[in-house]
Amino acid sequence: MENSEKEKVRILLIEESPENAKRTIAALHQSDLEVEVRQVSSTAGYLDELASNRPDLILSKHWGGSDCDVYAALTVAQKESIPFIFTSNLENKEDPQAVVCAFRNGATDYVLKDKLEDLVPAVKRALKIIKERRKVVPICSGCKKIRDDQNTWHQMEIFLLRNRDIRFSHTWCTECLIQFKKENGLA
Ligand SMILES: [Zn+2]
Repeated sequence: MENSEKEKVRILLIEESPENAKRTIAALHQSDLEVEVRQVSSTAGYLDELASNRPDLILSKHWGGSDCDVYAALTVAQKESIPFIFTSNLENKEDPQAVVCAFRNGATDYVLKDKLEDLVPAVKRALKIIKERRKVVPICSGCKKIRDDQNTWHQMEIFLLRNRDIRFSHTWCTECLIQFKKENGLA
């Protein structure tokens, strides 16, 4: 098996039941995705994981059981631009209103627990959207300033505060280009 070039997907799972967690993780492993799953069951644990080990995607049981306020968790995930997928409770009959409510609050997707085969496609869709949103930005090779869409150069710290989820392409800002040319006898 050639797994070396596959990107590992970091998934944070909000789930207090070991049984459900096992089922969910098993479903994730039945794919070509290479996943690393960390599990939390409280709001404190969730926030701690977000800060120390930012996941690519969050999976959460929809209602009940855990000490985690899942809608508060969803709000935080949205601020951080992390996709958030609900799975319905195995114990309960599905309530269509609950599904509507989840989407209204910004859930990326909703997977029924008795249709866990839908989970991997949902995860892949969410990751694809995130990848497409990620921008490549020009960064000066000299002073590390970053150019925005209006052609203005900014200090990296300021730019990073405003834009998360970015990748860099190396270039030169106006001042450093002049300096670079001078130093190399090109100006
Ligand atoms: Zn520069």
